[in-house]
Amino acid sequence: MAAQQLRLAGISAIVLDKANRPGGRMATRPFEGALFDYGAQFFTVRHERFAAFQRAWQAKGLVKVWSNGFNNQQDGHPRFIGQAGINAIPAHLAHGIDLRCGVKVSHIIASGNQWTLETDFDETLTADALIVTCPVPQTLALLDFDPIEAERLALEKIEYERCIAVMAILEEPANLPEPGALQMPNAEPISWISDNQRKGISTVANSITIHAGPKFSMDNWEKNAEEVAEKLLTGYKVSAWKLHRWKYSKPSVMHEDRCFVVTAPAPLVLAGDAFGEARIEGAALSGLSAAERLQALL
Ligand SMILES: Cc1cc2nc3c(=O)[nH]c(=O)nc-3n(C[C@H](O)[C@H](O)[C@H](O)COP(=O)(O)OP(=O)(O)OC[C@H]3O[C@@H](n4cnc5c(N)ncnc54)[C@H](O)[C@@H]3O)c2cc1C
Repeated sequence: MAAQQLRLAGISAIVLDKANRPGGRMATRPFEGALFDYGAQFFTVRHERFAAFQRAWQAKGLVKVWSNGFNNQQDGHPRFIGQAGINAIPAHLAHGIDLRCGVKVSHIIASGNQWTLETDFDETLTADALIVTCPVPQTLALLDFDPIEAERLALEKIEYERCIAVMAILEEPANLPEPGALQMPNAEPISWISDNQRKGISTVANSITIHAGPKFSMDNWEKNAEEVAEKLLTGYKVSAWKLHRWKYSKPSVMHEDRCFVVTAPAPLVLAGDAFGEARIEGAALSGLSAAERLQALL
């Protein structure tokens, strides 16, 4: 969102991502012929600014309404999904961007009035200005704080919940209520189950995503995958499964502003879902805000 906003303003940006595709927690993957959303499951819209993007994406056939609620409760607020999985949205946003995937930044150092980035391949890049959207604890581990020590405290307060996700293909239907999902906020050990075929993204029957609650995820973080999957798949006949651990799933302690701006020694803006709202819409609005703030500083 930030890079597209800068591109529209005529400012060239390079996007580095350590993963092999863009999107981070808006994650979709194939497994055993099925397709799974295994991070974010849907998005909601509360702000007109984001609604304009949602309408444009919907007009292109990129997103659609999945339901107006879960657990047989229609609250009237649409839940939007990517027609080809949630990752289709960041993949679409990457068009026209100089995106370099598989590049892990290992260190961000102030050098004069620029930022120097070191990568895992011993490559060095310099930038006049930087927007960093990693989960904040990951950003803190990268950043040379010597010139901006005063900023550290506000950022160290930000915390995230963990989430263990299981993708599984069942031999029998999971019998989930309409529209093919069960949402159990604050429940343990499982807080979410969805059927990716009924959601419309997978062609394989009974391809389900399970999210464990934050307590179960924390208590079982170090346990081996087989042991954890067995606990989360109790009662199901399973033909295949895969597990993913989200160390930074959703922010539980956030920063109240849409982004965090450092002006010297060179512009640096921290953004992402920890700034403002802990969801896709919050991350998107934070990205837009970061681009605007940076534009004003350049
Ligand atoms: C299990 C789960 C369920 C969720 N469900 C929902 C939901 O239903 N609805 C909703 O609105 N939100 C949901 N969310 C939250 C939503 O996914 C996030 O709020 C949003 O995607 C955050 O986007 P972001 O850009 O801030 O961060 P991220 O998506 O985390 O992006 C950060 C990026 O930084 C990259 N990166 C990190 N470190 C480095 C490095 N050193 N070098 C280079 N690149 C690096 C990562 O690869 C990643 O691509 C869920 C999240 C999870 C994990």
